[in-house]
Amino acid sequence: MTIFDYPLEPGQRLCEYVKVGELACFSDIRIPVLAIRGKQDGPTLWLTGAVHGDELNGLWAMRRLFWDLDVEKLQGTLVLTPLLNPVAFLGRAKVSMLDSLDMDQQFPGNPAGLYSERVAHAVFSELKQKANYVIDFHTLNHLFSATPYTVSKIVPGADDQTNQQAFRMAKAFGVFPNCRVDLQSASGELPGTTSGALDIVCMQHNIPCFMAELGGGGRWEEAFIQVAYMGIRDVMIDLGMLAGNLPVPEKQLIITKRKFLRSNAGGLVRMAVEPGSFVPAGGLIATIYDFWQEVDHLYADQDMFMIATCFNPVVSSGDRLAFVGCEWHEDK
Ligand SMILES: [Zn+2]
Repeated sequence: MTIFDYPLEPGQRLCEYVKVGELACFSDIRIPVLAIRGKQDGPTLWLTGAVHGDELNGLWAMRRLFWDLDVEKLQGTLVLTPLLNPVAFLGRAKVSMLDSLDMDQQFPGNPAGLYSERVAHAVFSELKQKANYVIDFHTLNHLFSATPYTVSKIVPGADDQTNQQAFRMAKAFGVFPNCRVDLQSASGELPGTTSGALDIVCMQHNIPCFMAELGGGGRWEEAFIQVAYMGIRDVMIDLGMLAGNLPVPEKQLIITKRKFLRSNAGGLVRMAVEPGSFVPAGGLIATIYDFWQEVDHLYADQDMFMIATCFNPVVSSGDRLAFVGCEWHEDK
């Protein structure tokens, strides 16, 4: 087989750059590509990271796992494109200063479009031919702390098996909260558009894909890097790519409805709750302060599971203080 025209034989590793554009300062824009092909046949799992340039925990987990894999014991092929948005990464930002586009809204891309559209096209046109399964790694933005969670979507137009398999992979990843988003009924749940998202476009091509959300952006969180490392390994076990027993968590939370909680006041926020915790209706979530008084309090208007909370204490009215699950069930 080949990956971006580089040959990859059984038992080989591939570590290369793929040119995806040029900068005004006469440098190439390149993305790193790593692949490892087992000596035995099996599926191809493709991992993508940093489509948002400041979301970094996933890429280190990929790097660590890649070099720990034993080609003798691997069945199938693991492909990594851990840094999809090198220009945004350079700016320590979610989107690039070249076009200010959210690259995760540009798939399947456009070879004659703007920077983000071109990279999306270059990656997706190869991925859709080679990948049987995809995991797309994200974090919340750098203003948030978050507990690791997965997002698997029920995508109209994807076949039933694809929708089921994405959910199965997400659960095999092994984290406690797992968001299950039905795109037909989830409109307005998140700000902005979700069309052109890598996971959705994979699913529309019947390539099962889920998003792994691992903490906050602009930093490395070792505990979550390790969560991602184990999660990838467990998905590979579930797909039959690695031998081993799948450690099934005792209990997982399947979150079917989510929302953002926003501040009505400006000032300095102190959160009363941690990501990963449950808050009953009426519980205190946050207090907003100025320098001589408590300006405002935010209380839970229903039972909630805290997915992410404000990390940076500076808030204006309308800013998001938390991202919460508000409907869920338990899964064994
Ligand atoms: Zn992201």
